[in-house]
Amino acid sequence: MVRIGFGYDVHQLKDGIPLILGGIELPWPKGLESYTDGDVMLHAIMDALLGAACLGDIGLHFPDTDPKYKGYSSLSLLSEVGEMLDKAGYDVNNIDCTVVAQRPKIAPHIPAMRAKISQALGAGADRISVKATTTEHMGFAGREEGMACYAVCTIIQRKALSEPVPEA
Ligand code: MG
Repeated sequence: MVRIGFGYDVHQLKDGIPLILGGIELPWPKGLESYTDGDVMLHAIMDALLGAACLGDIGLHFPDTDPKYKGYSSLSLLSEVGEMLDKAGYDVNNIDCTVVAQRPKIAPHIPAMRAKISQALGAGADRISVKATTTEHMGFAGREEGMACYAVCTIIQRKALSEPVPEA
């Protein structure tokens, strides 16, 4: 059985912090503010994966009230999400995401991002799609106040559900 998931995330851009996106650091004077490393792309991907498996969201599993996650690598969190899905009996089939950012240019970094996401999930890079768009200078992304990311994924259930779905 194939299941679809969707994720969306936004973070503010702040001066003088590293820009971590898609698991790599981009050379840029502003970075994404967050209790973790602010990787808006990986956050959207994790929410898509968790959503596809009906396993909640990253706020549930990695709460910002837990000091353990302060400055935490989102790539490590992505690996943990991959393990959660594996334990629940799912394989990642494919991921597609679009990061919304006016600057910097994302395209030169896409192969490295796909490789990082692929490694973290143990899924082939041919299953991981990363795209980017500007907003033609409109809205918060266009004004370079922040970045957003949309992600969808499909996952495949390896076996039948072990427990019946509870009745409403
Ligand atoms: Mg986030």
